[in-house]
Amino acid sequence: MNNHLDTVQIMHLDFINTTKENFLNNVLHTHLHNEEKCFIVTGNPEIAMRAREDKQYRAAVDTADYVIPDGAGILIAAKYMKQPMQERVAGYDVMRDLLAYANDRKLSCYFLGATEEVNRKAVIEVEREYLDLHVAGRHHGFFDLDDTSVVEEVRASGADIVLVALGLPRQELWIARHFDAFDKGVFMGVGGSIDVLAGEVKRAPDFWIRLNLEWLYRLLKQPFRYKRIVKVAEFMLRVFLKKS
Ligand code: UDP
Repeated sequence: MNNHLDTVQIMHLDFINTTKENFLNNVLHTHLHNEEKCFIVTGNPEIAMRAREDKQYRAAVDTADYVIPDGAGILIAAKYMKQPMQERVAGYDVMRDLLAYANDRKLSCYFLGATEEVNRKAVIEVEREYLDLHVAGRHHGFFDLDDTSVVEEVRASGADIVLVALGLPRQELWIARHFDAFDKGVFMGVGGSIDVLAGEVKRAPDFWIRLNLEWLYRLLKQPFRYKRIVKVAEFMLRVFLKKS
């Protein structure tokens, strides 16, 4: 869909090219206001590489309404391709804004994903911080993607916003597979953000984010993620060699 936003194509994914403020104020808030459902992919080099290598995953992300440029690597790639992006639109920031907006308008949000304990903790934190937000429901993220009882629970909750933190590729597969079952909802794959809401994982300090080094901070904190960095390196190499 992606009605009226400029996009930059990188590795066959169309990333929106706009400011975070415009995306929130003029796009997502309108979706919420009109109860018009949409699917947001928080795009980064790992997702682009996965889509390149996995047909089923590509088919899922191709149904997204918006792919946001979340990773620093995407911005570097766009610049290299002489189609610079206006700015990075971090998934975590979009999620936080959606929560704040939902709080202002007394809208509801469903929290799907992470372990049972982390999910419960995150919801407690959210309820503490956003007093007027309605928690439509919550469910941990370790279920079969075809489990229709989860779909039915989320659907019946009538949530305005559905945050899906099942990691890559499960979150995009789940949203794409079940999107038609929903009448409304802003659906967004948020990766590890429920862990951050729960206070289990710290986001990088602003200094690192400003220098586009959030990925390095994460790598230093969670060295087991090194395999992902290899994928990011392969992504950059492919962009530089024009071998998408
Ligand atoms: N997760 C989940 N179900 C799964 C796999 C992962 O709910 O089957 C959760 C995991 O607990 C974490 C989130 O997904 O809260 C993100 O996981 P990860 O850091 O592996 O993914 P990334 O953010 O790197 O895509």
